[in-house]
Amino acid sequence: MSSENPVVKCTVDQCTHWMQGNQCMASKIGIYNDEAKGDSSASADTQCKSFHANKGIGDMVGALHNANIGGTVRAAFAEGTQITPTVECYVNNCKYWNEGNYCHASAIEVDGLNAAKTTDTDCKTFEVR
Ligand code: SF4
Ligand code: SF4
Repeated sequence: MSSENPVVKCTVDQCTHWMQGNQCMASKIGIYNDEAKGDSSASADTQCKSFHANKGIGDMVGALHNANIGGTVRAAFAEGTQITPTVECYVNNCKYWNEGNYCHASAIEVDGLNAAKTTDTDCKTFEVR
């Protein structure tokens, strides 16, 4: 994992990747601009593209392609360590954005109250450059 990778805190509990403690179980997430606008001037214009609506237990299977449940992660669980995905970010007018689509914030917060689709989620940590 890159040293530039932020710790992800996420409150979107409607996502299949969400886990108690506001952790994200995905192995990798993508933060994007609002597609219609093409750039972001506020947090609301950003989104977590890896959001996957939890529509019930059967839907867990759909999330498994991006699940961070390897042995290392299980060990981290046992120790109570924070689990965090690799972040790839395309919001290049954010002050935390670095060439190569890295985010150099030490931590980011993803939210989206009652999110039903990707565009309902936001990177709250976004700050215009
Ligand atoms: S919305 Fe994004 S950051 Fe939050 S749990 Fe889902 S994939 Fe992870
Ligand atoms: S803080 Fe900025 S660079 Fe980091 S993930 Fe959010 S929008 Fe992207």
